[in-house]
Amino acid sequence: MKEQFFQCPYCWEQVSILVDLSVTEQNYIEDCENCCNPIQFKIRVKNQEIVSFDILEID
Ligand SMILES: [Zn+2]
Repeated sequence: MKEQFFQCPYCWEQVSILVDLSVTEQNYIEDCENCCNPIQFKIRVKNQEIVSFDILEID
């Protein structure tokens, strides 16, 4: 697992999530730990490293 920091698109706080580096394609929704709004994560992992990390707001 790797801790990845990002800026929440709702509250603009710097928050983090734990990314499982054993899964190469990840697409899931998790609530912001600060404001509790749902954020969609699109993550790609290659050779145990995060090569793509996208976050999207959910309407
Ligand atoms: Zn937030």
